[in-house]
Amino acid sequence: MNNKPTIAVIGAGLGGAAAGALLQQAGYPTKVYEQAPAFSRLGAGIHLGPNVMKVMRRIGIEDKLNAMGSHPDHWFSRNGLTGEYQSRIPLGDFAHEHYGAAYITVHRGDLHELMVSTLDQENLFFDKHLVDVDDQGGKVRMTFADGTTEEADLVIGADGVNSQIREKLLGSEAPIYSGWVAHRAIISAEKLKAYDLDFEACVKWWSEDRHMMVYFVTGDEKEYYYVTGVPEPEWSHGTSFVDSSREEMREAFTGYHPTVQALIDCTETVTKWPLLERNPLPLWHDNRLVLLGDACHPMKPHMAQGAAMAIEDAAMLVRCLEEVGAHDYRNAFELYRTNRFERASRVQKVSHDNTWLRQDEDPAWVFGYDVFETPLKAPEAV
Ligand code: FAD
Repeated sequence: MNNKPTIAVIGAGLGGAAAGALLQQAGYPTKVYEQAPAFSRLGAGIHLGPNVMKVMRRIGIEDKLNAMGSHPDHWFSRNGLTGEYQSRIPLGDFAHEHYGAAYITVHRGDLHELMVSTLDQENLFFDKHLVDVDDQGGKVRMTFADGTTEEADLVIGADGVNSQIREKLLGSEAPIYSGWVAHRAIISAEKLKAYDLDFEACVKWWSEDRHMMVYFVTGDEKEYYYVTGVPEPEWSHGTSFVDSSREEMREAFTGYHPTVQALIDCTETVTKWPLLERNPLPLWHDNRLVLLGDACHPMKPHMAQGAAMAIEDAAMLVRCLEEVGAHDYRNAFELYRTNRFERASRVQKVSHDNTWLRQDEDPAWVFGYDVFETPLKAPEAV
């Protein structure tokens, strides 16, 4: 008989899906609850560095992702106005040899669909918006917006930047609007053929206070994608994103290189997102509740490592439960926090400062990390 504790994961985003898949693989009776009625293929891309691909290997989808994604040879940073190269960070074969896995860029929707498909579909519940948790000592009782209740021994809050579980642990507090927005657009590569320009596989165009990151999101290089960081003093829309326009893009990137102007000219639809952050949290877990990913350390996306941190968290959490024994969950959760806090907080800080790979630097501390092999640090005795 399976005597492992029952676990509920709140949120089937990238962090929650990774946690659910790894827990189920390790034999924990795990149910995943997601508020959305279904997922759609939102127009966005995502980088998966070798540090995340090692987790994908463990989940069993590394080959599928390698087939699905684009494999840039370099991350280039270029001056947005002159086009001058500021850094050339080797990826491709170099990433395999030095960091132990590929560096790919993919469509976020394709990645998410694949990750969610690795979950036990009978224990994945959509349309389940958690409104309350009651950690009663012996069990946690969860209440959903549809009036239903469920119980689990342990509950993982993978419920994103406005996490209910974070609120339960630390009280109500809105995330901090960073003062920057991100525009996101997917462009048909067919349209770019009209230009006598080189559209590189992974390039970030920079100027003093803004940037545009550009890459392919499919292995066949049919879809090209850009995501920006542009200052905007206030976000008063009250929604998680709004429509933007080609005109707004032209204004934001006046004077930028002809390659960037071509991308704007080819833009059909573009959305605009507020970039939200929190300062490192003083508490990651309490009794039977524990946080991961954006619920715990939301950050500006300027290192392309936010989801990566959520996925690494998931892997470390399962590793610590296995290491300590899940019935000693308090110590397992503290071991998890001890082994994630410093790295996640450092990535939050570099993302905030937006300095990552702007000039040549050694990215090995991020890409070379292996969450399954890194030696575990013991929590400080209290
Ligand atoms: P989320 O992805 O937010 O998932 C949370 C899930 O919980 C959602 O599905 C939500 O519906 C569900 N949920 C919320 N509340 C409840 C509730 N009460 N009950 C039930 N379910 C609930 N990261 C990278 O690694 N690489 C990139 O290239 C990258 N680019 C980015 C570009 C932009 C513009 C932005 C904004 C972010 C980017 N990120 C990137 C960061 C990344 O998107 C996040 O860090 C990542 O999605 C966090 O994953 P998560 O699972 O913790 O949270």
